[in-house]
Amino acid sequence: MPKLIVLGSSTNIPDINHENTHLALVDKERLVLIDGGGNPFVRLREAGLDEKKLTDIVMTHFHPDHVSGIPLLLMAIGLSGREEHLDIYANEHCLGLMKQLLGFYEWHTWHSFPVTFHTVEEEELRVLIETKEFKIYTSPVKHFIPTIGMRFEFIKSGKVIAFSSDSAPTPNLISLAKDADVLIHEAAGASPGHSSALQAGEIASEANVKSLYIIHYPAGDFDYHSLINEAAQSYKGPIKMAEDFLEFDF
Ligand SMILES: [Zn+2]
Repeated sequence: MPKLIVLGSSTNIPDINHENTHLALVDKERLVLIDGGGNPFVRLREAGLDEKKLTDIVMTHFHPDHVSGIPLLLMAIGLSGREEHLDIYANEHCLGLMKQLLGFYEWHTWHSFPVTFHTVEEEELRVLIETKEFKIYTSPVKHFIPTIGMRFEFIKSGKVIAFSSDSAPTPNLISLAKDADVLIHEAAGASPGHSSALQAGEIASEANVKSLYIIHYPAGDFDYHSLINEAAQSYKGPIKMAEDFLEFDF
């Protein structure tokens, strides 16, 4: 059965129990890593996933709390003996900068398996990956730099999960999350590139989703459970915090 696993749930400042926000989507054929701050190689193993089965990496945008661990992951899986091909997807902005970053690491001296980079076009609800068990769509969202949000459709169960990535409220988030069973929405705090929990609730209401999970929230000493009460002012459905290693089994 395909599942989506939360590998990290915090904003750009992680703590012991909350790694920077990133996810994994896994079925029989594919293991898709979505972003990777920190050390995704270790994180995948902690989640019980086999990094040897990694087939795809999707990067939502080029901020260090989302992609700083990707070069480290590529090195680690290469040195672990990987020979299989890997696909990496991101928008033009992120992909260009990641290639430069890998260049600074002189990755031509250590990378050992074939990698294909795929540019994600800035189109709404574009199909990115399709398997027998799920379909991933992307849409541009509203952050400080070009960023994509995602929608996961699970074929057999018909269930849908939407993920805001880092974004201020935008109509694209509403279409991305339309009638979803689960909306995983950030609540880093209201700003031109982020949302508050209240705004996450507004998007959840407008998109008519069945449940809301708050992610990319300030962790540490912050009373992050208060964000549930805040979101409840604008969304009447069930609201939970997306904690690290939470699994959605669809
Ligand atoms: Zn960001």
